[in-house]
Amino acid sequence: MSVASKRIVIVTGIPGVGKTTVLNKAADIARQEYTVEIVNYGSVMFDAAVNSGFVENRDQMRLLPPEKQREIQKNAAEIIAKKAAQGKLLIVDTHMLIATPEGYLAGLPEWVITTLKPDVIVLVEAEPEFIFSRRSKDETRTRDQDSTIEINTHQNLCRAAATAISVLTGATVKIVKNKEGMVDETAEELAVVLKGVN
Ligand code: ATP
Ligand code: MG
Repeated sequence: MSVASKRIVIVTGIPGVGKTTVLNKAADIARQEYTVEIVNYGSVMFDAAVNSGFVENRDQMRLLPPEKQREIQKNAAEIIAKKAAQGKLLIVDTHMLIATPEGYLAGLPEWVITTLKPDVIVLVEAEPEFIFSRRSKDETRTRDQDSTIEINTHQNLCRAAATAISVLTGATVKIVKNKEGMVDETAEELAVVLKGVN
């Protein structure tokens, strides 16, 4: 792909699947050859939500009324799109669907995805039972206690949403399996995807 073009890869996966862990390693591999910036969509939204006085911690975000989440989400898309610059690969770490008390909220609705204009959408997936145990073991976060059946449904709906984005934008959809205890191998696979875009 042209060196002068703006390149964006969106890396998604349901909470606790391991996308931030894998992505940080993949970016380290990529940085040996070219410039990569990672931006966490939730962090950009969180900063905006804290500044507006809506939340105090990150896990309160998905409990905000959906219209409030959409408003913050739109602002974040504009901030992130401005970060996409020539000569670097921008990787966006985000969620395809956010589980809210009112149902799943699209993380990448039409007005976000047409602002970001990604080249590739990556779905990081894992077996539901491993996602369940990764969520239980991770004490740094307060995560939903979904059953493995709910986790499976969430992952399947994310696939459907990714395909819809591909139809809307022409972005390709890549599924990367984050097998248990195989972070390095998954990161290598993701680094190959990043290199293809670069
Ligand atoms: P969130 O969407 O909530 O930010 P995430 O997808 O970014 O979640 P991480 O925070 O990267 O998930 O990982 C969740 C937990 O799973 C961490 O404790 C991490 O060490 C562990 N983990 C990640 N990948 C694997 C793997 N392949 N095998 C075992 N444990 C893993
Ligand atoms: Mg994360």
